[in-house]
Amino acid sequence: MVIDPGHGGKDSGTMGSKLKEKDVVLPVSLKVAEYLKQYASDIEVIFTRKDDRFIELDQRPIIANKAEADLFVSIHANAMPPGNPGVYGTETYVMGTKNEGRNFEVGKRENSVILLEEDYKEKYQGFDPESPEVNIMFEIMQEAYQENSIILAQNVEEQFSKRAGRKSRGVKQSSLWVLWNTAMPSVLIEIGYLTNPDEERDLGNEQVQDYIASAIFRAIRDYFEYVKTTEN
Ligand SMILES: [Zn+2]
Repeated sequence: MVIDPGHGGKDSGTMGSKLKEKDVVLPVSLKVAEYLKQYASDIEVIFTRKDDRFIELDQRPIIANKAEADLFVSIHANAMPPGNPGVYGTETYVMGTKNEGRNFEVGKRENSVILLEEDYKEKYQGFDPESPEVNIMFEIMQEAYQENSIILAQNVEEQFSKRAGRKSRGVKQSSLWVLWNTAMPSVLIEIGYLTNPDEERDLGNEQVQDYIASAIFRAIRDYFEYVKTTEN
């Protein structure tokens, strides 16, 4: 499987009052891999990044597809527009074209790193993360992977609320580039809102990061156990 810590390098992702998304999601991602190594060592983990480096968005699914990975888990932190500090909680996204309201905003923000790449116009062939027409490009759904993606997403949100003490905002759909381009079940996890002062403090706390990572680990472990039983 592939663990994809969001952003990195010149792409900070979103910002809280002091924390940068790229700096919060990396330690959580590394901890998930540590748990997997310790308690589910048969699950092989590949990282898209293990340090603070910039990776072009299209490379993330390419890394996973080249490795013929069986699962893609992208880890991010969320933000509200200024003036909405009260919103907090976790969300786990699967690929989808029902981009209503906030889900569209999250898709737009997480896709927008493309604009930092010089040759994005050729590379993404007219894909404009700032345009609502982006939805048209996502009409072909990954039907084959959708069911398993949703099962993992539900595991993650359940673990967050029942075992890690987070407020789950549920499983959602959005047209996210990295999910659309991975040829395997894939989810994008938003571990909390950096624009909520309490949650920002939590996400910067090593113990909370550990709870979040262990919740993601258990969700992945349970997912692979489920896949194994349905295959046999
Ligand atoms: Zn992000």
